[in-house]
Amino acid sequence: MPLTTGAPNADLTRTFPELAPYARTTVRLHPRRGEPGMRDSHIGGPLWWPAAEPWPHCGRHKDLNGRPNDPYPMVAVAQLTAAHFPELGFPGGTDLVQVLWCPEWHEQPHPHGWGQACRVVWRRTEEITDARAGNPDTEEDWDPEYDMVPRACVLHPERVVEYPWPEELPGDLGSRLEYGSAARDLYDDVAAVLGHKVGGSMNWSVSDMPSPLDCSACDAPLTLLLQVDTYEWGLGGWGPDGEPHRFWPLEERHLEPGSEEFEAARAPTGMTVGRGGHAGLFVCSADPTHPPSFFTQ
Ligand SMILES: [Zn+2]
Ligand SMILES: [Zn+2]
Repeated sequence: MPLTTGAPNADLTRTFPELAPYARTTVRLHPRRGEPGMRDSHIGGPLWWPAAEPWPHCGRHKDLNGRPNDPYPMVAVAQLTAAHFPELGFPGGTDLVQVLWCPEWHEQPHPHGWGQACRVVWRRTEEITDARAGNPDTEEDWDPEYDMVPRACVLHPERVVEYPWPEELPGDLGSRLEYGSAARDLYDDVAAVLGHKVGGSMNWSVSDMPSPLDCSACDAPLTLLLQVDTYEWGLGGWGPDGEPHRFWPLEERHLEPGSEEFEAARAPTGMTVGRGGHAGLFVCSADPTHPPSFFTQ
């Protein structure tokens, strides 16, 4: 079933025609709990992983006495295929990208990064002739209720137009979007879409956007590979009549707020990101195999 974002509450480019050139496309993933196949695009769930290749582990943890713990298997976060996400810019003939992380907090390649130690693996599917029979049983090491362990979800990708975070705009345009202004309210409705998504722009409302937002290995700009979020849409309404939040999919507006079905749709991965916010996994725009950085909001 496709899931569809509501229309913007106003046509921003009628008020600000000069913003039109900054429109871009992001892909809302709309993860929903399910049983994804090993070769599908998904959040959580089994990765299509070569049987002969060791599973990544994190060996940076110590017990209360300072002795090193046995390394923990990293958690499978996402698998995305070129067939579903051609806009990802798969490097060197690859057609599959896999994201794993350690659910604990770690230092990042970027000095302002904050959050998970991530592993991003780009693969050529045809080279995997013998896949392992599923992920390691990380429940032995990580409680599934742990904040940053996602539940297995299938995806319902939807391409949505959005605008950059104001700090990414040229100064004169960005400065017209001061917090609290009517223009900013209009802009926030169409800028830096929240929820799980691929590509586009991240909302930096908790911290300022790091400047420069560059690769730690080569200084090329970082780009958003994957945004994860605690919630897919906000609870607040819009306008005097409290119209439903735009990002509540049209097909799910019959769900009763507070019901189990509603909560499963609004918080599908069960992750609590930061303090109930969102985070972005960024990769180098020049070479996405350079070390990724993670920023929590
Ligand atoms: Zn770790
Ligand atoms: Zn780089």
